[in-house]
Amino acid sequence: MSSSLKKLAAPGVQMLQPYLPGKPVEELERELGISDSVKLASNENPLGPSREALIAISQCYKQINYYPDGSGHLLSQKLADQHGVEPGCITLGNGSNDVLELIARAFITPEHSAVYSEYAFAVYPIVVQAIGAKANVAPAYPPSHQTMPLGHDPDAIINSIDASTRVVFIANPNNPTGTWMDVDTINALLSRVPSDVIAVLDIAYFEYMDDTLKPDIRTLINTYDNLVITCTFSKVYALAGLRIGYGISHPDVADMLNRVRQPFNTNMLAQAAALASLDDVEHVKKSVDMNNLGKTYLMAELATLGLRYLPSMGNFITIDLQRDARPVYDDLLNQGVIVRPVANYNMPNYLRVTIGTPEQNVRFIAALKEVLK
Ligand SMILES: *Cc1c(COP(=O)(O)O)cnc(C)c1O
Repeated sequence: MSSSLKKLAAPGVQMLQPYLPGKPVEELERELGISDSVKLASNENPLGPSREALIAISQCYKQINYYPDGSGHLLSQKLADQHGVEPGCITLGNGSNDVLELIARAFITPEHSAVYSEYAFAVYPIVVQAIGAKANVAPAYPPSHQTMPLGHDPDAIINSIDASTRVVFIANPNNPTGTWMDVDTINALLSRVPSDVIAVLDIAYFEYMDDTLKPDIRTLINTYDNLVITCTFSKVYALAGLRIGYGISHPDVADMLNRVRQPFNTNMLAQAAALASLDDVEHVKKSVDMNNLGKTYLMAELATLGLRYLPSMGNFITIDLQRDARPVYDDLLNQGVIVRPVANYNMPNYLRVTIGTPEQNVRFIAALKEVLK
């Protein structure tokens, strides 16, 4: 009965592997009957949201009987000012995942293909397959690569583009690897994407990158008409639970994305909190500084334990256990520490751990030592 119902779904949907979220703290605590577990599994900002965001929410939550501003006027305007582009370049999304889906729906049909790298963010295959389009997966750099093991290989990405390709997804830095491309490499790559192919540059972890690695967003948008840059408030801005992100692109591309966008895809509280968060540069700086300290600490501890890890410009580190990581993941759960297995990315020997507060990082290392003993 149920299998015949499933056959009613579109072919691409039938083949979809559902997205695997990090295990919620409440679920683990229910299962183990414990109360002090830590979640380092979804790259959330452990400092929590900006106080300004909370104040903004408290000032508007009593108006949620009204629909939100469907155009997100104030937020779009502010984002445009901040990036030095026209407001017409902005597409607001219910998380940047929403923008990724809008791109797929606006530009890809089942006759088309999309390109992304091996080990790239899991949402790219989901949005492409849901449409029933073909994915051309570009081989990543091998684990033995000198500087960027498992990183995006620009040549392989370009070589994977064929006549049917409409969209190329590039994550910089990528999740779950943490790997990145420098500004010159990004430019060289974007300049080789044909002008009739949409290039998506997903910069969810932009703020965490070393300053020398950050491309100038305005210059990129002014240089490449076929480019959509996707940004999120889920990571350093710590608003993952509210679901808000955006795309920056040529206004003609944004116009197409806004046509498929649901009229009220971003909610009132999210718009208000995002707007207020943009003003709290101190909170961003504090979050990034804490992340850098935590990264240094974790890298040193992992090296002491003789563990290898991928280079990362994100708020997470992906550890190569060089054996099946699942038992280690399970044992860490028993210690009350939730990290992220990445077998679904074809990386069964790796675990991705979000960089937490100093206390959480110490707790993770202690649990890991216990588990590996
Ligand atoms: C976390 C993440 C996002 C953000 O998704 P939202 O829908 O904005 O929460 C986007 N891209 C990558 C690569 C990510 O890791």
